[in-house]
Amino acid sequence: MTPGTEDLRREIVAACRILADTGLTVGTSGNVSVRAGGVMLITPSATPYAELTAEMICEMPLDGPEGVWVGPRKPSTEWRFHRDILRARPEIGAVVHAHPPHCTALAMARREIPPCHYMIAAFGGASVRCAGYARYGTAELSALVLQALEGRTACLMANHGMIALGETLSRAMWRAAELEALARHYCIALSIGGPVLLSDAQIGEAAQAFATYAPGGA
Ligand code: 13P
Ligand code: ZN
Repeated sequence: MTPGTEDLRREIVAACRILADTGLTVGTSGNVSVRAGGVMLITPSATPYAELTAEMICEMPLDGPEGVWVGPRKPSTEWRFHRDILRARPEIGAVVHAHPPHCTALAMARREIPPCHYMIAAFGGASVRCAGYARYGTAELSALVLQALEGRTACLMANHGMIALGETLSRAMWRAAELEALARHYCIALSIGGPVLLSDAQIGEAAQAFATYAPGGA
């Protein structure tokens, strides 16, 4: 265990408990990673969140041989997209992946979220895209989510779930909860005839306002 990673490990465990307790994910689905210098801290695979401890969090080099890890358990099967996002997006410090019900329902229908609410601006643009489908854990899935995340801090994943990014883990967790709320509101609006969409100018204005609105301790 790299010295100095203890606090981040504890933060990851706490975030996982929140994902489970708030229904953002069920069972052992979902995974969380955080950048710690040149290392990625990531949840172990197939481990119930109630049993997770700080010592079980795996360490993987961000640049280094493929698939090498340090820790008592195998890393999440999704280590590829976590690593690839942290490598490609230096401003990002944490990645949260989960299968929340409304995000996942939209992802099963392969629908992106359009500018139906000003909160869409919290995710970097006028839509939250839905990445194409590839089997979980594959390099192909990683390439698809990187593409869907271009200029964005969240995406849906076809027939799978969602990903939220943050400068810090608390920001990524804030976005994960807000994305599921937005997806729920969008699903309800679809059931009563569909939302009226906001214009690019209205989304731009909301995005500017978000520059000084920083929940999650950015
Ligand atoms: P892990 O338990 O390997 O992290 O996988 C869960 C998951 O959500 C796969 O997409
Ligand atoms: Zn998953």
